[in-house]
Amino acid sequence: MIKAITFDLDDTLWDIWPVVERAEQLLHNWLGARYPRIPERFTPLALRQLGDEIALLYPEIAHDRTRLRKEALQLAAARSGYAKFDVEAAFTVFYVARNAVEIFGEVRPVLERLAQRYTLASLSNGNADIRLVGLDDVFSFSINAIEAGAAKPESPMFALACQRLGARPEQIVHVGDDPVHDVRGAADAGFRTVWLNRAGRDWPGGRRADAEIGDLAELEAILAVWEGFFT
Ligand SMILES: [Mg+2]
Repeated sequence: MIKAITFDLDDTLWDIWPVVERAEQLLHNWLGARYPRIPERFTPLALRQLGDEIALLYPEIAHDRTRLRKEALQLAAARSGYAKFDVEAAFTVFYVARNAVEIFGEVRPVLERLAQRYTLASLSNGNADIRLVGLDDVFSFSINAIEAGAAKPESPMFALACQRLGARPEQIVHVGDDPVHDVRGAADAGFRTVWLNRAGRDWPGGRRADAEIGDLAELEAILAVWEGFFT
């Protein structure tokens, strides 16, 4: 019996990279008006790469995308000669834009129907705010890597999900786009797995997901088969 379904967010319910690039550009413009030496010295890409460098130097915070963005901004400000820098205001500019995602068309109706039968939750390595995105009415709760203390495919996020759902792993289906973070991570945790493969990519190798779908509308038929009823 399936009790709950957990969903990855970025690139599963919406495309994330166009949104991140737009958010980085908006932040860059905002910095240009207030701290112009930062964007003179750092392109949007260079600011992102600064975060990647910090993640390599400090692996203990690598799972915390919010912290990495803030540390990168602080470092860029310091290197640009600003002793005082409002990192919270800068991050908010990025964060609001980062949550201005365009949810794939089939997502909301499918989630609304599934929520009548199952408990739904989101498990994300990113820092999306499900309220700002506008899906907080269909998800019972959301867990991200910051809260879990580790990113998928590691086990803490999946273990926390079982605990909050009051369900055993085999009673939970995880749906996500990433073969490692979502499919391998959830399978290692004992969840049933669904690989959402919107782009029609080849499976990269390793143990395959229990099911593969091209969009979320196909999920209901998979669940019906697993539950032993046919609609
Ligand atoms: Mg994803």
